[in-house]
Amino acid sequence: MDNIRNFSIIAHIDHGKSTLADRIIQECGAVSDRELTKQMMDTMDIEQERGITIKAQSVRLDYVKDGKHYILNLIDTPGHVDFSYEVSKSLASSDGALLIVDAAQGVEAQTIANVYMAMENNLTLIPVINKIDLPAAEPERVAEEIETTIGIDATDAVMISAKTGVGIRELIDAIVDRIPAPVGDPSATTKAIIYDSWFDSYQGAMALVRVFDGEIKTGQMVKLMHNNENHQVLELLYPHPLRRQKTQSIKSGEIGIVILGVKEVGSIRVGDTITDARNPAKEPVGEYAPAKPFVFAGIYPIDTDEFESVRDALDKLKLNDSSLSYEPETSIALGFGFRVGFLGMLHMEVVKERLEREFNLDLIATAPSVVYKVYKTDGTMVEVQNPSELPEPQNIERIEEPYVRATVIVPTDYLGNVITLLTAKRGMQEKMEYLNETRVMLIYVMPMNEIVVDFYDKLKSTSKGYASFDYDPIEFRQGDLVKLDVRVAGDVVDALSVIVPRSSAESRGRALVTNMKEIVPRQLFEVAIQASIGNRVIARETVKSMGKNVTAKCYGGDISRKRKLLDKQKEGKKRMKAIGKVQLPQEAFMSVLKMD
Ligand code: GDP
Ligand code: MG
Repeated sequence: MDNIRNFSIIAHIDHGKSTLADRIIQECGAVSDRELTKQMMDTMDIEQERGITIKAQSVRLDYVKDGKHYILNLIDTPGHVDFSYEVSKSLASSDGALLIVDAAQGVEAQTIANVYMAMENNLTLIPVINKIDLPAAEPERVAEEIETTIGIDATDAVMISAKTGVGIRELIDAIVDRIPAPVGDPSATTKAIIYDSWFDSYQGAMALVRVFDGEIKTGQMVKLMHNNENHQVLELLYPHPLRRQKTQSIKSGEIGIVILGVKEVGSIRVGDTITDARNPAKEPVGEYAPAKPFVFAGIYPIDTDEFESVRDALDKLKLNDSSLSYEPETSIALGFGFRVGFLGMLHMEVVKERLEREFNLDLIATAPSVVYKVYKTDGTMVEVQNPSELPEPQNIERIEEPYVRATVIVPTDYLGNVITLLTAKRGMQEKMEYLNETRVMLIYVMPMNEIVVDFYDKLKSTSKGYASFDYDPIEFRQGDLVKLDVRVAGDVVDALSVIVPRSSAESRGRALVTNMKEIVPRQLFEVAIQASIGNRVIARETVKSMGKNVTAKCYGGDISRKRKLLDKQKEGKKRMKAIGKVQLPQEAFMSVLKMD
């Protein structure tokens, strides 16, 4: 066991985790130069396209230092706030972490959030300053920033360029020298944590585990501690981006993939403990706490017949994303669908895109909403995840909404802009600290609802992309809130309702109908779009009728052009949902989030 090193790579997004992972894999000779593609660990199409890591991936590597053979288990982690649940499970399986900081950017909001999580797991941290090849790199200043903001010694930070390969060998040597070997009792009964799982269409559910005590053997009967289910181990593999290698056992201190032949997708949960079925461990590895969703949205099939397919897809996706939660709901406007819980906005986008791509579904997502605690006059409390389900005003005593503590790091040049934005978003300043002459860290307390409503884009545009942001949910607080309804051609469209502060209801309502007017395509008849609170209409716009047929303008001759236009219309129609007589595109359901 003393030759094993289990480590994660943590960093703010874009600081170079995935690139570094590739470089380490290459340096250890696990893939040939010919096989090396960019970002080996980002295996999903959507990760490659967006250049972000969504699922943590692991790889087992061999390394020789001073004539001694080592096994390095590398766990690439997602950097975005929404995926911190994945990060925390990866960290629980590691003994150390490489803390990557971009030499030109310095410490950012998620650098700090990730460090706190690593410290909670008692990990040995190796500060790594990346991108020293950049002309704008200031490694010494960044080392100082790491010391002042995080309070860890950065004098022995490893300076690297994951791009050119400078410092990589020194870094791997530092991993061997500084990260402790795993501890555990090889002779005790089996005890392993599941830190990732996914569904393979040939082999069924796969679980990525870290074994703490004992070992897992092929053929062994094991128990899943959270639901007491027993299963036989069919196959064991060591993780590798190209070639998984079969093994007969995964021993104390090691990581590996366990195939249990489980077809029931709900059985395997990230964070659960696997033990021996006949001689079970007394306690699980740490507490099993499922991730808590903060943002909810309706997901509906465009074709109502696809409801069961959506359920099946969600079941399968949940295996790959334990933070996903959902239950069936019905909407007058959209029919049968699901109310799905997400960890944040990016998580929602990613889930919708994966459902559409990996399961071939055409979906409509409603605008996301936070959870409200509604205390009613009859003394009961209901949690409202869907704005259209807000009780009637006369039955409400008070409404509480979730608040977050937000950390923003911003260059002084944009400090004024960012403070203006935070204030407009009902933020209250708790702390303002200069990290050095050019950068400031702000701590604000603000309603989570304001983050859901186009906060992230606004923060980026008001700071030219330089501000970084992270948040932690803290508590529920009372708010003066009302439900804003949207009527299309006279009827309230339940899927478009939003809950807003009373003070901004008017301006939101006006912005909303103006937006909708741009998005709702012309129909054969005039369509009124109204925003209302209860029965009171506060804003109105009209979408004029279509008039002439659109193809009329390509004079007879050009058939191919005419066909193209008709095809385009058909393509557009696929994405439309009929609300009464009116066809609404997906953007209409998101327009409630746009404030201007
Ligand atoms: P991650 O989000 O932390 O996984 O970051 P990535 O590995 O995806 O890298 C983000 C961007 O930084 C990519 O465009 C990389 O090519 C680039 N990058 C990573 N390491 C270096 C480096 O050492 N030098 C330079 N110049 N660019 C780098
Ligand atoms: Mg990455």
